[in-house]
Amino acid sequence: MRVSKTVAFSLAAIGIGVAVYGLAAFRVRGEAGGLSKSITPAYWMERATGRDLFDPDKRIWYKGVRERKEVCITFDDGPHPLSCKSILSTLKDKKVPATFFVVGKQVDANPDLVKMIVADGHEVGNHTYDHVRLSKLTREQVYDQINECDLAVERATGLKMTFFRPPGMQYTDTVLSVVHQKDKIMVHWVIGAKDFIGTVPSDELTSEQKKEAPITPDKVVEYVVKQLRPGAIILLHDNPVTATALPRLIDAVRQKGFEFKSCKDMMEELPQHVKIDPNPPAHGPDRVLASHN
Ligand SMILES: [Zn+2]
Repeated sequence: MRVSKTVAFSLAAIGIGVAVYGLAAFRVRGEAGGLSKSITPAYWMERATGRDLFDPDKRIWYKGVRERKEVCITFDDGPHPLSCKSILSTLKDKKVPATFFVVGKQVDANPDLVKMIVADGHEVGNHTYDHVRLSKLTREQVYDQINECDLAVERATGLKMTFFRPPGMQYTDTVLSVVHQKDKIMVHWVIGAKDFIGTVPSDELTSEQKKEAPITPDKVVEYVVKQLRPGAIILLHDNPVTATALPRLIDAVRQKGFEFKSCKDMMEELPQHVKIDPNPPAHGPDRVLASHN
């Protein structure tokens, strides 16, 4: 009798354990990238150590912590002569920090805009020189794309860039090895606003994207708000549609109780407390990547 009771208790305990684990895995399946990933112990180990947010080996930052209602805002593909100033003026009015992932050739064509971004206290990140898909290039070509963009920003501002984001977020091990060599951190994104559709050359779009209607400022706000979640890195583009949407977008995000932080500040709040200088002087002492826990 006693044995069967013990067995019954053990079975009940195992049953409850499995149910709790299954429920937890089910709850985070979207965030994990599917239920098949969220039920693996490896995922929960990554989650416990913060490696699903920032991977120090790959040097990829995926998102901020889940516990704070904070987001950061990033603008890719600029500086754009028709929208950058308007974006900067909105950010100044509303006291919102941002990170601009600039394209080297755009920097060479508009050096004053990059100077304005830096003078307003925003962060500047590397988005290659020509905005090409790096996954198709040789290692030497990848290096040149990243290095030439670095040099363009150095010429314009005298600053280096720690953050990097590959066009189309496409990267291979070759790209990661150059990121390592150049001492950079790759910044992923969580929320996209599809605000490149109808604003970038159509040869950069996939066939699926070509079927989408051109973006409007209303849609940019709607896409961002419906995907909002703590720790999200928001991907926007430096273009006129997004510049028009920005004041309303900022208000809508704040109305939902979220606060805007810089990428640098959100990285410091990670479990690994990653401390970086996003834009150290080009000829000053090398920055320190301090990661301690
Ligand atoms: Zn881009």
